[in-house]
Amino acid sequence: MSEADCIFCKIARGEIDAEVVHDEDDVLAFRDINSQAPVHLLVIPRQHVANLEEVGELPDRVVKRLFEVSSAVAQEAGATEGGYAVRVNNGRDAGQEVFHLHMHVMGGRKLGMP
Ligand code: AMP
Ligand code: ZN
Repeated sequence: MSEADCIFCKIARGEIDAEVVHDEDDVLAFRDINSQAPVHLLVIPRQHVANLEEVGELPDRVVKRLFEVSSAVAQEAGATEGGYAVRVNNGRDAGQEVFHLHMHVMGGRKLGMP
């Protein structure tokens, strides 16, 4: 998967529309197109990394911002009181479909494992 073909890189470049809820230099958050919960957002680094095995390619500050933005957008969506899950599907057994690292921020209902 090259950055030219990657759907989340296309969203980050503004080539594909998304419901963006947070936009900053290194990190973007938008609504999941196939929402699985009342609040279901995706938080991505603008820089293309496929998965957690490549997370070391991101500057430390960006990794930190992924978590901070996850918290901020959950708060803006009103999900902090009830709580929310931050989830990375990594690889085949986790059902990863988009090979651009992303964090699902899900809330607004009771969430179980897995
Ligand atoms: P996964 O790779 O398993 O974490 O799943 C990828 C997630 O991206 C799924 O929940 C999809 O609904 C979501 N998704 C795929 N394409 C888009 C898109 N164009 N805009 C927003 N969300 C998307
Ligand atoms: Zn990408």
